[in-house]
Amino acid sequence: MLNKAEELLQKYFGYSSFRKGQAEIIESILTGNDTLAIMPTGGGKSICYQVPAMILDGLTIVISPLISLMKDQVDALDNVGISSTYINSSLSVSELRERMIRIEEGEYKILYIAPERLEAYSFREMLYSLPISMIAIDEAHCISQWGHDFRPSYRSINTFIHDLPEPPIVVALTATATKEVTTDICTLLSINEENTFVTGFSRDNLTFNVVKGENKRDFIKRYVKTNSDQSGIIYASTRKEVDELCQFLNKTGISAGKYHAGLKEEERADQQEKFLYDEFSIMVATNAFGMGINKSNIRFVIHYNLPKNIEAYYQEAGRAGRDGEPSECTILFAGQDIQLQKFLIEQTALSLDKKMHEFHKLQQMVDLCHTEKCIQSYIVEYFGEENPSSACGKCVNCRDTSERIDVTKETLMVLSCVKRMNEKFGKTLVAQVLKGSNNKKIAQFKFHTLSTYGLMKNKTEKQIVEFIDFLVAEGFLAMTSSRYPVLELTQKALLVLVEKQAVYKKQQFTIKAIEGNDELFEKLKQTRRELAQELKVPPYIIFSDSSLKDMSLVCPKNTTEFLSVKGVAQTKLERYGEAFIAVVCDFLKVEREDELDTEKSQTTIKPITQEKTSSHLHTFQMYRDGNSISSISEERGLSEITVQNHIVRSIEEGEEVDWTKIVTKEEERLIKEQVISLETELLKPIKEALPQEISYFQIKAVISKMKVEV
Ligand code: ADP
Repeated sequence: MLNKAEELLQKYFGYSSFRKGQAEIIESILTGNDTLAIMPTGGGKSICYQVPAMILDGLTIVISPLISLMKDQVDALDNVGISSTYINSSLSVSELRERMIRIEEGEYKILYIAPERLEAYSFREMLYSLPISMIAIDEAHCISQWGHDFRPSYRSINTFIHDLPEPPIVVALTATATKEVTTDICTLLSINEENTFVTGFSRDNLTFNVVKGENKRDFIKRYVKTNSDQSGIIYASTRKEVDELCQFLNKTGISAGKYHAGLKEEERADQQEKFLYDEFSIMVATNAFGMGINKSNIRFVIHYNLPKNIEAYYQEAGRAGRDGEPSECTILFAGQDIQLQKFLIEQTALSLDKKMHEFHKLQQMVDLCHTEKCIQSYIVEYFGEENPSSACGKCVNCRDTSERIDVTKETLMVLSCVKRMNEKFGKTLVAQVLKGSNNKKIAQFKFHTLSTYGLMKNKTEKQIVEFIDFLVAEGFLAMTSSRYPVLELTQKALLVLVEKQAVYKKQQFTIKAIEGNDELFEKLKQTRRELAQELKVPPYIIFSDSSLKDMSLVCPKNTTEFLSVKGVAQTKLERYGEAFIAVVCDFLKVEREDELDTEKSQTTIKPITQEKTSSHLHTFQMYRDGNSISSISEERGLSEITVQNHIVRSIEEGEEVDWTKIVTKEEERLIKEQVISLETELLKPIKEALPQEISYFQIKAVISKMKVEV
């Protein structure tokens, strides 16, 4: 069975082998086991259900939390030649009807829906009549109250599955699940914990940094300029901060967009689209942005403020490098952000118990920022991985072999100045006193008479403020959470002041370009961008950065070479082969080595979604010609339920049928009796009220007959 799966992986997706965990998960699914897959973001979860969906008879329903993600997935599947669709609130009534008919006709292998849909009884009822072989639940941690994105509507999934006429295979997928969330998912979805596959949480292509004591805006400016051709997200905690930072970047000539819940819906959609289509490369956002963003070529994620917990952090940071290419995740740590997060937790309507839980998780996040261990290992241990592989060798702590500088003297100067100012003033005034500035406030409080006045006059005021930030980050000073935060000495400060403990500071963090791009890669990216605009899909749906990178190494000059590029299979060859081979040949200044079969080659012009003709009458004709449902099913490659639905639909449209082939007179009488007495057309209650031998097909057929007779 796994051979077949491998064949389909190559045929549709253009990948030659499964990644870590995928084969085991797919095998478990194909053996018929309900399965929980925990894989890191970018690990390749989608393929774990998309490949089995192509092997199993019938329909796979994917429950996915966000509309934008569904459209992306459907576009991506269409782009590899797999027929899928989605149903959500973005559709008009006529689009919805049209899709429902096609779903019933069995035209799609995969259907994406939002969990909220399952709360509508009529929608559930429609689904009950479909041949559902598998239910895949994406972002499955949303079902758990202990997860960081609990969604009450995820709780309807369980009843929905339970009420299906035939039990489907249930597959839950998530990237972030602690032990308690894992157990919760298994219990709520009745998955045997033995069928849980954890492929490891580590993201080997990501480099984690925590930067302390830097001026955040300066850092961002330098960072973004160094990586100006790369896509990145900067997360900030509040809307105000997002607005200000975005404005700051735009003023410094960096084109950035913004996203937060305070913007109008159209504005949010517009900003998101521009980012996805690479129209600007930096998105400044609150955590409202991201869930459901599938953009695979995000090269960096910066946290301007401290995230609320490690799960949220890893989820957000994990949006970098989904295509497996080297990418960077950086937290700009400042002590006062802890107060901000505490305040935000205080503001929630959570019970005291839950608040305490959140405070605890915040502390774990703070600990991560202070650890001297490998950050990647620290994170995977947090998620319960028992034997994480050795240190990543890339994160700021692993790289930190630099000499540390002894800053005990400067620390003593700052701490004693704070003490002498009676721990009643903020960092600006403290810095001014240390600098020896002349201003009204200093004169008013007679601070020029302090022994610490002018002690650091050889430094700029900005440097002194940054040094104070460092002392806050390291816990020697604390900032009060009042409107005008005041510096206070901590227990740790006393160790320096009283016990003369030494203080060391790491060399400043050096910003380096994440990666260099070559010329052909840039040209291929440009062609991808043009095609994306023409076809109205995001560029990464056409090819991921890693495919383009492979293309720039392989330099395909003919069809065979093009097919050997990672992520290229038949459909992509047919759609895009010509355009990209032309770019390569032009770059190498050589002739193309073969001619594409013009019938098949439709590069650039072919619309992504093609109209399909309805086929129920074809099925019905075969049925009327005396073919059995099972033989039609086999010949047409449709499931038996789809064939039945085609027949029922034709009857409703007035086609004549030999009723003796479908029901006996007695069965027809019994069904009609129940439809009338229960006053419903809902299939489930009718089926339950009838003898077991009477099938859903017979019920549906008689109901349609009743409609025609009326
Ligand atoms: P997740 O949902 O786990 O975040 P995706 O399913 O979006 O990850 O996959 C991330 C990327 O990895 C996609 O570009 C996908 O095509 C690619 N991918 C998945 N499986 C493989 C594989 N076996 N070989 C190569 N690339 C793969």
